[in-house]
Amino acid sequence: KKARYAAMRDEASVTKDGVPVTLMINAGLRDDMSALATTGAEGVGLFRTEFQFLISATLPQRERQQRFYRDVLDAAGDKPVIFRTLDIGGDKALPYLKDETNEEENPALGWRALRLSLDHAGLMKAQARALIEAAAGRTLNVMFPMVSEPWEFDAAKAIFDGQIEFLSRQKKVLPNKIRFGAMLEVPALAETLDILLPKIDFLSIGTNDLTQFLFAADRADPRLAERYDWLSPAILRFIRRVVKATDGHEVDVAVCGEMGGRTLEALALMGIGIRRLSITPAAVGPIKAMIRSTSHSDIRAKMNELLNNPTENLREELTAWAIGQGI
Ligand code: PEP
Ligand code: MG
Repeated sequence: KKARYAAMRDEASVTKDGVPVTLMINAGLRDDMSALATTGAEGVGLFRTEFQFLISATLPQRERQQRFYRDVLDAAGDKPVIFRTLDIGGDKALPYLKDETNEEENPALGWRALRLSLDHAGLMKAQARALIEAAAGRTLNVMFPMVSEPWEFDAAKAIFDGQIEFLSRQKKVLPNKIRFGAMLEVPALAETLDILLPKIDFLSIGTNDLTQFLFAADRADPRLAERYDWLSPAILRFIRRVVKATDGHEVDVAVCGEMGGRTLEALALMGIGIRRLSITPAAVGPIKAMIRSTSHSDIRAKMNELLNNPTENLREELTAWAIGQGI
């Protein structure tokens, strides 16, 4: 099977009825970048910049960040990399910021990700400058985690705009193009998408946190791991509604949570309108095989049927259907 997936590296990621599905990888370390070549993925849909911070004993200074981002872009060559700004706090505490984050009763709901970055403007400015300088002469894709309201996106983008202005006054070479995006992982953001969408170039649905927040269920609690299914009407209807809300906007919509790397879940996502997945590298082969043996129009019809009259057996029903289709 492994050999079969490897051989598929150069095959197109397209359904039996000709619908392309973009497959990208999630990454966070320099070593992860080699997976672009081995899997044939189209780019990095989620680069978790906090990894560099998590494996470092001290806060990585701006120059060190910049060198790292440049290495990552060099390794990606012509393929795009979406850098997510720091997503620390919650389950990803930094030893050297510990005093500030470990006092919380509900860290997942606490001072983390973009919230922390916006309050630590120095930290975010340094990261913005490192990213902008690293992408000199190329395209920079920046994504903000845990955006809860459109104005948080504005505030984060303003920090980047400030750094661009500063660097252009210094006559530094800037990126050719900067694309901004937001993660949709806090359910509240879905209610203000009409305000956010005109401001952004891409939206990435983070199903790990989104599931945690939709079901009010800690993603790290093993006793809850089996209770709520990604293939539940609540999650699938929610994502379907988000995809519909993006109609008519020039915004790429992707799923970058672990859900997208599971075959049946990815199939369901395709059926509700998702055409971009950013997944763990090991999943690219199996997911591409699934895509190539699926009819897009059939899975759309099937998901409509399953979501219009949902039962608690959605997973079983979809499994049976997929087997019947030879997927
Ligand atoms: C997510 O929340 O789904 C996500 C992709 O980000 P992380 O797992 O890093 O929180
Ligand atoms: Mg997340």
